[in-house]
Order: sequence, then structure tokens, then C-alpha cells
Amino acid sequence: MTLIAVPLAAAQLATLLADTARAKASGADLVEWRLDTCAAQGLDPRAAIAAIAQAALPVLVTIRHPSERGDWTGSEAERAALYAEADAAGAAWIDIELAHVATLGQRPLRAKLILSAHDFTGMGGGREALRERLRAMRAAGADVAKVAVMASDAADLAVVRELLVDRAGYEGDTIVLAMGEHGLPSRLLAGVWGAHLTFARLADQAGSAPGQPTVDDLVRLYRLKDQQTGWRIFGVIGSPIAHSMSPQLHNAAFAACDVAAVYVPFRVEDAPAFWRACGPWIDGVSITIPHKQALLDLIDVPGDEVRRVGAMNTIHREGGRSHSANTDVLAIAACLESATGDLSGKRVLCLGAGGVAKAIVHAGALAGATVAVTNRTHVRAVELAAEVAGTALTIEQALEWPYDILVNGTSQGMGKPDESPWPEDRHRRGTIVFDTVYTPLVTKLLLDAKRAGATPIMGVDMFIRQAAAQFMRFTDNRFAPPIDLMRRTVLDRLARKP
Ligand code: NAP
Repeated sequence: MTLIAVPLAAAQLATLLADTARAKASGADLVEWRLDTCAAQGLDPRAAIAAIAQAALPVLVTIRHPSERGDWTGSEAERAALYAEADAAGAAWIDIELAHVATLGQRPLRAKLILSAHDFTGMGGGREALRERLRAMRAAGADVAKVAVMASDAADLAVVRELLVDRAGYEGDTIVLAMGEHGLPSRLLAGVWGAHLTFARLADQAGSAPGQPTVDDLVRLYRLKDQQTGWRIFGVIGSPIAHSMSPQLHNAAFAACDVAAVYVPFRVEDAPAFWRACGPWIDGVSITIPHKQALLDLIDVPGDEVRRVGAMNTIHREGGRSHSANTDVLAIAACLESATGDLSGKRVLCLGAGGVAKAIVHAGALAGATVAVTNRTHVRAVELAAEVAGTALTIEQALEWPYDILVNGTSQGMGKPDESPWPEDRHRRGTIVFDTVYTPLVTKLLLDAKRAGATPIMGVDMFIRQAAAQFMRFTDNRFAPPIDLMRRTVLDRLARKP
């Protein structure tokens, strides 16, 4: 089982011990006491070593050399003496840089020896150079071989995975991780890839290296303690991606249905490069801005709606082939049909001409509705309407157009409870008004519509339906999506947003 290690440093011994107890309570298996950083903050490393026996969790002792971004300023002889004392005092692991192990002398007598190498600027010379380093660690007597590199795009994760899954010449306990946001999945998938341990931080601390997740997220959201090699891997690709609610939604659904799978955020800059490098071991992805059109040519079987719209938000695999879908289009149609039944012959007025508006007009057209588009930048409305043989209207014309269904595909009202894309006094009784904006959950557009006797549909319904349609594809239609749980998860997350 992959262990969770929390790196800690403090100026006071009492804080170090208290944080160790907190790490245990949050689900960590061990703590890494960074004695170089403790010393820099004013705590005598010998006082910490003397307290190892009192620690609530097994202790990994690290006194990091400045050449690998450590805070150690003392001599190598002093460092060697401290490592020997930590070994005698009951440290469970001792981490020494491969580059300095020869000058530090004897290997520990009791503790497991981690030999490590860190590259904070790149991928350590690439796959073969890293393999050589891992082999050199094993040859130098490492119980655990560790390399940490810095990913510049999520495609670099393919190297991390390969080094962990195919340990040619360095079999046994190994840690390979990529730092930074692009490397985050290497920490979250450590259990699936069989790493010896993965590092995580306490929620109120910054961590010791860029990109460390919280212990809480690792344990509860990504189910690290349950992960097994062979679990299926899913994720969301986009840039930026940290704001995405999809990991919460899909991991909650996987856990509820007891599906052996985990879903992670992939911060991707070059989508085709990512999919070529990582696609072979990824079972499915959600796709968000700016990549909804970037992978169209790389998919074996495009969905009908993808062919029509020219944009996709989902890839899944079926019979060894990649399939694309646009579950935004499917979700919009489902939201409207749930309120009004068959859409054919209905008049849909779409406000906006961006990405979501494109999904709206195609959903309407595919279902046989008559579509009109209006947009602040009129020429974009003309282009979008032409895609579905619809009508482009100026804003003045739109105010007079006899719609049955009004859909907001602009970002107006997002984060602004007093703003609406439609005049309050131009709503019509008996119509349907769907706002794709879901922050706030109930927008001014929806409140005005309800007051005027129209039926409102909330944007969060679309968000949940598109995720549910992805979940069904990810699980080969074997599970009904746990819609209530997914809704609760989204509402919880939205309620916690500032
Ligand atoms: P987008 O491609 O950037 O398009 C934005 C649209 O809003 C454009 O038509 C733009 O008009 C218009 N717009 C922006 N500011 C405006 C303003 N002040 N006045 C008038 N029009 C304005 O964005 P998108 O990806 O389509 O997303 C649009 C909204 O959809 C988001 O804000 C989000 O709230 C919502 N959304 C919902 C879901 C869901 O599942 N419910 C999913 C994704 C997005 P111009 O062409 O003139 O710039």
C-alpha cells in the first residue's frame, strides 16, 4: 500500500510534535521531519532527534542539502553526525541525496535508507537519465529510490508513470513524482502506480514542495488508501483547472457505486501532445476550456453531436477505441425536454454566441426546434446562427421575437446577482427560461422569469446532467449515476465558494 507522508518543520519542538499528531489524525502514515528547515527556523535538530520516540507517527528524517533546495547551512560532517543520531534515536527512514551519499559515510543501521534526487527546473534529463539515477540509487544501497522532477505540462506524467510501472533495474520500493500543478496527478495516482509513498500537506500549511495536495483530499477525495494497481484512471483536462468541480463530482460517484477508478485534474497546455503521451493509459476524460476542439482529429469514433457541433467535452473508451461526446449538448436538450417535452417546432432564443451558446443552438436544432441567436457582438450571432440554419437577431429584434424558450448562454449574471441579460419587463408568461449560469444558483434572470409566470431552469441542472452523462460513459453504462449525491456534492462545493 502507498503511504502518505506529511513533511513538517517548526521553530518549536512542541509545534513539531503537535503537527505530527494532527497529521496522524488526518490519515497520514508518517511524517517527514525536515531538520534542515527546523534548524533554519531556530529549532535545534538534536532536540527534534531526541523527541523522535515521542512522535505520534513514524518519522522520516531529512536534512536537505542546499544544492537540492534544502535549508542546511552546516558542514557535511555535522550532517552525517545528525543522520547517525537520528538512526540511533529510532527514525524509520532517512533521506539522503544520491549526489552526497558518498561523502556522508555509513548507511543507517536501523532506518530504511531513501536515496533521492530532485530537479526543481525540469524533468531531470528525461526518462533514460532518470532510470539511470534510480539504478544508481539501488546500486548505492537504497532501500527506497526517489526522484522528484518538475513537470512543465501534463504530458510529462507519462514519464513518471513509466518509471513507476516498469522498474527495469531498480525493482523494489520507489518514489517518482512530478512537482508543480502540471505534476499533481503523479501525487494523486501514487497508489495506482504503486509508489512507495506520496507527500501531502496539512490543510493550513504550504507544504515543502510545489503542488502537494492536502492529506484530507488524498484520503477522502482521491481514496489513496483504497487505490490498487489496475484501478481505472479518469480526469478533466483544461487550463486553468484548479477551480474545476469535476473531481469532487466524479470521485464521489465512483465511491458511491464502488467503482475501482479515480478522477484527477490534468492541467494541460498542449492537448494533442498530452493525449498522445498519456491517452494510452487514461480510460476517459472530461474536457474543458480551452481544449474542446483540440482533440477532434485524434478520436477513433466521434459522437453524432460532436460531428455536428465541432466541439467535444468527453472521451471514453469502448472496445479498445476512443469515443467522443458532447454531453453539454445532450444535457441542454435533456434540461429543456424535462420542462417542455418534445422540442420539435418550439422557438428557442439563445442569448450569446460563445462556447455554451454553440451547444445551446445545436441542442435545439438537433431536437428539431427553430433557433434564433442574439449577441453583443452581432457578427458572432450571424456566424453561429448560420451553423444551424437559424436566425441572427439584433438585440432590438430579439426583444420582439416570439420565443417559447429563452436560454442565456452569455456570462452575464455570473457572480453578479443584480445583473441579467434580459430586461425584467420583457419576460412572457408560459415560456421556459433557462440560465446556464449557475453562480449564483438562482440568478436575477430566473427570479424575473418566475415573477412573470415563466418556468425557470437552473444552470446547475445542466452541469449535473452533463457530468452524469459522462459518468455513464466512463462506467460502460453499468451504473445509474447517483444524481442526488452529485447534486449535493456540487451544492456543497458552491456553498463553500467565497
Ligand atoms: P464564452 O465562450 O466566453 O462566451 C461568452 C458569451 O457571453 C459571448 O457571447 C459574449 O459576447 C457574452 N458576454 C460576455 N460578457 C457580456 C456582457 N457584459 N454583455 C453581453 N454579453 C456578454 O463563454 P462560455 O464558455 O460560452 O460560457 C458562458 C457562460 O456559461 C459562463 O459564464 C458560465 O456561467 C456558463 N456555463 C455553464 C455551464 C453549465 O454546465 N451550466 C457550463 C459552462 C459554462 P461577445 O461575443 O460579444 O463577447
